[in-house]
Amino acid sequence: MSNTIIGIDLGTTNSEVAIIEQGKAKIIEHNDQKILPSYVGLDEQGEVIVGEKARNQYLLYPERTVKSIKRLIGEDTQVNLAGTAYTPQEISAIILKSLKQTAEQYLGKKISKAVITVPAYFSDAQRQATREAGEIAGLEVVRMINEPTAAALSYGATVEQAKKMLVYDLGGGTFDVSIVKIESGVVEVLSSHGDNHLGGDDFDQQIINFLLNHLKNVCKTDISTDSQAMARITRAAENAKIVLSDQPFVKIEEEYLLEHQGSPIHLSVELSRAEYEDMIDDYIDSTLDATHIALKGAKIAASEINEIFLVGGSTRTPCIRERLFNEFGFEPHAEIDPDLCVAMGAAIQAAMIAGEKVDTVLVDVTPYTYGTSALGVLHGESYPFTYVPVIHKNSTLPIRKTEAFTTSYDGQEFVDINIYQGEDPDALNNTKIGEFQVTGLKDTKAGNVITLTLELDLNGILHVSAQEKDTGLEKSITIKNALSRFEGEALDKAKQRVTSMFGQMDSRLFDEDKPESEQPNAPEIKTARELIDRAERLFDQVSKEDKEDMHDLIEAINSRIEAGDIDGLTGPVNQLSDIIYYLES
Ligand code: AMP
Repeated sequence: MSNTIIGIDLGTTNSEVAIIEQGKAKIIEHNDQKILPSYVGLDEQGEVIVGEKARNQYLLYPERTVKSIKRLIGEDTQVNLAGTAYTPQEISAIILKSLKQTAEQYLGKKISKAVITVPAYFSDAQRQATREAGEIAGLEVVRMINEPTAAALSYGATVEQAKKMLVYDLGGGTFDVSIVKIESGVVEVLSSHGDNHLGGDDFDQQIINFLLNHLKNVCKTDISTDSQAMARITRAAENAKIVLSDQPFVKIEEEYLLEHQGSPIHLSVELSRAEYEDMIDDYIDSTLDATHIALKGAKIAASEINEIFLVGGSTRTPCIRERLFNEFGFEPHAEIDPDLCVAMGAAIQAAMIAGEKVDTVLVDVTPYTYGTSALGVLHGESYPFTYVPVIHKNSTLPIRKTEAFTTSYDGQEFVDINIYQGEDPDALNNTKIGEFQVTGLKDTKAGNVITLTLELDLNGILHVSAQEKDTGLEKSITIKNALSRFEGEALDKAKQRVTSMFGQMDSRLFDEDKPESEQPNAPEIKTARELIDRAERLFDQVSKEDKEDMHDLIEAINSRIEAGDIDGLTGPVNQLSDIIYYLES
């Protein structure tokens, strides 16, 4: 352990440090944070501050703070920090030193060696300057590896069989796409392309512009010269963007933003994911153009790519995944935190150099895509069962995703919601795993928004809920065994096979060695059947909604009786009995 080599991702926006612990890559946290924002500053007392603290003061005191120094590394230039000029190597060294200290505190010993990652397109001058930054920080840079190589390593890409991979890396300020070939355990970057000035910051800027316009139009105020208000707007825009990765709408609210002609200005506006996606569409287009240039550079066709790895925080934006899926026809990998996989790959490379044993990184992911059907376009034609994926294959568990849908005609009172597992653009070719109806929608025009939330936990239980956005009216179901490894019809067939096996066993073993509660005539089953009779007698007198609820419960009870699941009867029996009690009283 004496010569631990640390792995460092020295990023434009964020940096991380990782080591190998018990064979696995681990990001070392500082103050409970895995990510160190790549900001360096001097505080009011002239003390050096790095990371979150420096980031917080950036908008208020830009003259005392430096960000995105990676953009200048290798250039013969200097930056000004509170009146003193520093080289990019020195500023980078401050970030590296801070990461080195984090590792030393965690490990309780001095660290002197590191593997540092650099973009594949970095020139010799940029690489040399990065090495110098390491030296200034007291670190011998034993190897510099390309970021896409590190990402591939974190995915355990040391496999023997030859593969071609695309690493799509969209961070805060930069976009890089690389074509990587792996053969006999050797990772080689075939081509790389990108844009040094495209990233999540541009997405934030689009939201900032939207907010400034809103304030101009609604509150008749221009806040762009008020640095404090701009700082709040900038932070709010990034937060909104992050929320929109999981939710179809976000409410952006900032109270007492500033005073205008003696009255306080409050910001309160809603932004939908669809509106936001329109704002960033051109940026995504240019990343895909760059991807095709990289493919051309590697002289390979899109169809030859075996896997796609997503790197960088901005790849959490759902439409990026969708666009890549449409382009390549399969789901990109995002199992490993896209913010952390480069540092983890650096740690793996570091451990390999130090002769340590490394296991592949394993995480829990969903092997399937889950979604619903809606009116859409399939093969160029309008089709009512177009598949709309909500949780994508390869997502890390647990995961919660919400999508918005709208009613299709005026006065629509209910919506049918079908849940499918599979990848086919035609929902009917996927496996239906659940269905329910939301009734009692408000009487309004077509376009009434219904949000659908899918939440898949580590045990493979899928919670599905749908909500009418305006009223909060909600209905939900729980689908057990959503992660069952059977595909399509095989699932139904296996179920039938097992049920029929139980049927035969029941008739053979009946009355012999089963406890009373497991027999078809167990008292619990009798009670449940009597309850169903009572419920069915009430059908003529009850509202449509009550009838549907009762119907669902009867179905649940019958399926449990069929499966011999006596314990599982309690829930639906109690619920049905509550409804009957309420209706009869
Ligand atoms: P990186 O440079 O890889 O650390 O990426 C940082 C960028 O990722 C910043 O622009 C963040 O705002 C952005 N980001 C982080 N989380 C998310 C998210 N959940 N959805 C969209 N963008 C995100």
